Amino acid sequence: MAALYIHIPFCKTRCNYCDFYKSTSCAKTEDYIEALEREMEYRRGYFGDTPVDTVFFGGGTPSLLPPALLQRLIDKARSLWNLEEVSEITVEANPDDITEHYLDELARTDINRLSFGVQSFIDRDLKLLGRRHNAQQAVEAIRAAQAKGFGNISLDLIFGIPGMSLREWENNVLRAVILGVQHISAYCLTISDNTVFGDMAEAGTLIPASDEICEEQFMICHRILTDSGFCHYEISNYARGEEFRSLHNWAYWCGKTYLGLGPSAHSYDGDQRIYSVNNLEKYIDLAGTDRIYGREILSRIDKYNEYIMTALRTDYGIRRDALSERFGFKGLLYFEYCAGKFLRNGLIVREGNVYRIPPEKLMVSNSIISDLFYIEE
Ligand code: SF4
Repeated sequence: MAALYIHIPFCKTRCNYCDFYKSTSCAKTEDYIEALEREMEYRRGYFGDTPVDTVFFGGGTPSLLPPALLQRLIDKARSLWNLEEVSEITVEANPDDITEHYLDELARTDINRLSFGVQSFIDRDLKLLGRRHNAQQAVEAIRAAQAKGFGNISLDLIFGIPGMSLREWENNVLRAVILGVQHISAYCLTISDNTVFGDMAEAGTLIPASDEICEEQFMICHRILTDSGFCHYEISNYARGEEFRSLHNWAYWCGKTYLGLGPSAHSYDGDQRIYSVNNLEKYIDLAGTDRIYGREILSRIDKYNEYIMTALRTDYGIRRDALSERFGFKGLLYFEYCAGKFLRNGLIVREGNVYRIPPEKLMVSNSIISDLFYIEE
């Protein structure tokens, strides 16, 4: 199993909380597509014989590109790698880009999964976040995509938005359920430096939601979605049935080979992580050469720590046999020694062969997980 990620680094405007790499000018779209094609050629040997199972157009705002351009990239990928078994091709979409015409064109491509950046069904929140759409547009975009026959739709929601009450959040989650989408990602708002929200928080004009509110909202979401038949398969992700888990994200969390194309994209082949330059102009100039890459070779300790981190965020958890197979009996002993105190206070539970963080403790998973890392003296 392997995954292909294609970064589309364009956005019409910047959202107030966003620190992803993107450009607010689409003037270089054609140059960019050509640069991506050069990078694809350059990395044609990357997957070897491994078939690619998933393709993901992320951003930025991939729905700013005409569907025919997305298909051109899919065709290019097909000409270079084995995509015969590909089962999931996702495009991230902003609701305000979606029109009947756009969906008609999208339906003619190989894309079979849409991921909508909804974030909230409350116009006040959307305005605060700096989103370009309103709640009505989000609902209409999803309904239009469903009417067009897209049967695998995901939407993103954000909790911990300053000023959003528990009742409002509950209504947001319920509206997502009622819309009948197959997948929901619910993220806690992060306020980062170098964003409008970061500046506002520093100036005291934005008061972040407290940890307690965020934890309560997380649990409200968990309760509503699991009661509605969604499976909670990763800290932020819920699928309406096994077949709607995001294969692409699953590939990341399981440590499968993935190739990321475009500025700031990452790739991983089981041994090393490759980072592409975080600058659109440099990328367009240098794509197709080795000069856009930085590399990090992962040590056995890095791999152990990554495994612990990702496995404990998923419903797969840490399986004793899998841990011992990957990191030997010593690795298993080390984990069980460190996990002891968390087992005693209920922050980790053991069910047969599997260790997991219970859902109500997932919001503090970062501190649990970092205590389980192997740190070289
Ligand atoms: S649309 Fe997405 S990538 Fe673009 S600025 Fe907003 S949050 Fe960031």
